[in-house]
Amino acid sequence: MMRLKAAFECLRATENEESVKMSTGFFWDERCFWHGGGNYAGMLPVGGLVQPKVGGGLPESPETKRRLKNLMDVTGLSGALDMRGATEATREDLLRVHPASYLDEFKALSDGMGGELGRRTPFGPGGYEVAALSAGLSMAALEAVLRGEMRNAYALSRPPGHHCLPDYPNGFCLLANLSIAIQSARANGLAERVVVLDWDVHHGNGTEAIFYDDPNVLTISIHQDRNYPMDSGGFEDRGTGAGVGFNLNIPLPAGAGHAGYMAVMERIVTPQITAFQPDAIVIACGYDAACNDPLGRMLATAETFRAMTAQVKALAGGLCGGRLMMAHEGGYDEVYVPFCGHHVIAEMAGSDITAPDPFAEVFSLRQPGPAFDRFLDGVLDDMVAAL
Ligand SMILES: [Zn+2]
Repeated sequence: MMRLKAAFECLRATENEESVKMSTGFFWDERCFWHGGGNYAGMLPVGGLVQPKVGGGLPESPETKRRLKNLMDVTGLSGALDMRGATEATREDLLRVHPASYLDEFKALSDGMGGELGRRTPFGPGGYEVAALSAGLSMAALEAVLRGEMRNAYALSRPPGHHCLPDYPNGFCLLANLSIAIQSARANGLAERVVVLDWDVHHGNGTEAIFYDDPNVLTISIHQDRNYPMDSGGFEDRGTGAGVGFNLNIPLPAGAGHAGYMAVMERIVTPQITAFQPDAIVIACGYDAACNDPLGRMLATAETFRAMTAQVKALAGGLCGGRLMMAHEGGYDEVYVPFCGHHVIAEMAGSDITAPDPFAEVFSLRQPGPAFDRFLDGVLDDMVAAL
């Protein structure tokens, strides 16, 4: 009897190990969809000749995120994931990245009627708590992966985080979600060396600034050259002090498409991550490099995001026990972002539940021609030669 019980326990342990190994976490919270976008019409504050817009606000609306979650529910992908929430990041967690003075100012405005800090970062009453929850989702996702509770994880964090500097929020980002998650993991002894790959179409200037002198966090940002912020993200910005060589910007000309992103991943990103030998790979997963995005001028498709996900998943598998975590960043096409996100998350989970790209044919026709590809090859040749 005892032997049978022991055998059963052993079998159950193996099954649990297998299900942990195979599971993908998805961290989200309805309250993140309630964060407000301020009195804007697109990128312009309402006033003067700028007419208020029905259903207005900044392009960073909840709809891209809510529709992604809804699409996953409709296809059944949600049911294949380990769906979880999280608690708000504590003040102690936030202080690892942000100064007390900034947190105090943010909290005081949030406890009142809300307001706006920095550049294009409006929030309503309680905005501090929503931002802390967004950071908490990223923290929980990374921690669950590093503790081996799941194979990989996606955090539907909103507001986003990659533009946020320690004391200056900008670009819709109020707290530096991923940086807070990484610093928490390191403080808890869960990881030492982490790669952040940021494929949002805008430069990950906040993440870069926070780890600029840190040789144990390799920050890589693939972005459209001189999009946002316009004065940062140059290839020559490689870090400072001990961190020299551990920041890499890959600014691309507008118009790069699927083949261009694949070339960047193969020729630059993969060898850099492989050489670094990380404990975990973290992705700042924006979808605004997609065709039709109002804040980007690139031509990536849902298949581009799926293929990049397959590449980083394979890299993580070979380098760091599969430990891969993604946090949602930008992406402003309310119709297309959900399909791109579904491609990414299904690939992370190794699921065959699909949401076929309704624009696949038309976006394949919009891919750049041979002349652009030759031009981009030259741009990448110069970067590779300078590494
Ligand atoms: Zn962006």
